[in-house]
Amino acid sequence: MTPLLLGLEDRVVVVTGAAGGQGAAEALLLDSYGARVVATDLADAPPAAFNGTNVTYRRLDVTDEAGWTALAHEIATELRDSAPLKGLINNAGITHRARLGQTERADWDRVLAVNLTGPMLGIQALAPLMGEGSSIVNIGSAAALTAHYTAAYTASKWGLRGLTHVAATEYGPRGIRVNAVHPGFIETDMTANAPAAMRGAQLDLTPLERLGQADEVAQVAVFLLSDAAAYVSGAEIPVDGAFTSSAGVKYMADRIAAAKAAADASAPTT
Ligand code: NAD
Repeated sequence: MTPLLLGLEDRVVVVTGAAGGQGAAEALLLDSYGARVVATDLADAPPAAFNGTNVTYRRLDVTDEAGWTALAHEIATELRDSAPLKGLINNAGITHRARLGQTERADWDRVLAVNLTGPMLGIQALAPLMGEGSSIVNIGSAAALTAHYTAAYTASKWGLRGLTHVAATEYGPRGIRVNAVHPGFIETDMTANAPAAMRGAQLDLTPLERLGQADEVAQVAVFLLSDAAAYVSGAEIPVDGAFTSSAGVKYMADRIAAAKAAADASAPTT
């Protein structure tokens, strides 16, 4: 029997939005498996979380096409001789919690630029450097599987699903796999300021009855980057405690159960 093959050692993997949250968790997990991680984010300096690791940090605004070109050039000239570029996690993302009627054009443009145009630029810049056995993971969202109220964010993540399938089709013949991971409500800076009502409703609607952790998304993203997922491409994996699978039915089932319990409790005993 073939043992589980990860094959992550000595391959270059770029992670965007990696200064904190899920991106940092992905960078650190990849580093622990011997990957040559190039972690990128908006800040000039690397976060303290990378101290004592082999993670290399570069500033990159994912909306900056010239920045992607410069990163590709750097990888092609400095890193590629020693290790092949075989991975990209398009993780950087921003949210804007406004419904459609309250969404300003500037906010719509900003969210789509980071969440959708950023991954498109990243794939265009780095896929030409990738060969057989490479893997691209796009971090989508449960919002991309639902009508989540955050109009710009939800639209951007649905768009990212489309980009994922287009890229998987286009780059498949070159042996490059492209997949999407759809996190549910994950405890990071992004959700730290979410409305309390949203947090509570999310718990009510999530069959595992808890929120998720950055590490739990990182585990799945790293699996998709690895050779263990060698025949997985064009897939979308929710990491959401069955939130999207349940499609709100947990709420209905819980209400039915509560009503039955109340009726049973008030029924006369004979
Ligand atoms: P986070 O806010 O902790 O991390 C996002 C990172 O992206 C930050 O470090 C930020 O600086 C960086 N970033 C923002 N704009 C950027 C830009 N233009 N260029 C480069 N980097 C930029 O949030 P997170 O929860 O770790 O989010 C990671 C990904 O997961 C995002 O794509 C997000 O949409 C997605 N997601 C998060 C949740 C959640 O509940 N936290 C749920 C579903 C999907």
